[in-house]
Amino acid sequence: MKVTDPDGGIHFHWKKTPKEGWTLSLEKAPEFQHCFIFSYLYGGRNSKEKRRGAFKSKREGYALFKASHVLDVKFNSSHDDFCFFDARVKASMTRNKMYRTKVSQNKTGEVVAAQCTYKAGGNGYCKHVGALLYAILDFSECGLGQIPPNTSCTERPQQWHKPTQRTSKVPVLFKDILMIKHDYDAD
Ligand SMILES: [Zn+2]
Repeated sequence: MKVTDPDGGIHFHWKKTPKEGWTLSLEKAPEFQHCFIFSYLYGGRNSKEKRRGAFKSKREGYALFKASHVLDVKFNSSHDDFCFFDARVKASMTRNKMYRTKVSQNKTGEVVAAQCTYKAGGNGYCKHVGALLYAILDFSECGLGQIPPNTSCTERPQQWHKPTQRTSKVPVLFKDILMIKHDYDAD
């Protein structure tokens, strides 16, 4: 019989969360990919029924991110094997309550674990985690060197690390931004 940690190692994992070294700098943040969001939200669920919730967390998390519900994001890369994002996420479109949400990644950017103070939040697979993951994707896709005060990309088009070819003042759709290929080595 294989002996496994009853909580999947998550509590052990979070003990590694650094106390020091939290920063707004994204210089050491790994490149993040859209597929990491789904592979985390979907892959950690052990039944078909629960897996349906992955689509919901992804969709609703994206909506929360777009509505600038992800606040006070901080990054930490001081651990040898993992890096961490920590944020406050406004609970929903209608409620003002805030939840504390954490994500940890390995050094290639894949999500290892996530946590949310929302108790019914499905063990780190809730929409607030989804929202933070979209913020992390946004930072990476926009090539930001620093976490901005407002985490919704469309509301800070002038703060992009690297200017795009766009000349019009027409609002840019997030799905279009995802298509822009940045040259990360050019900085
Ligand atoms: Zn949550």
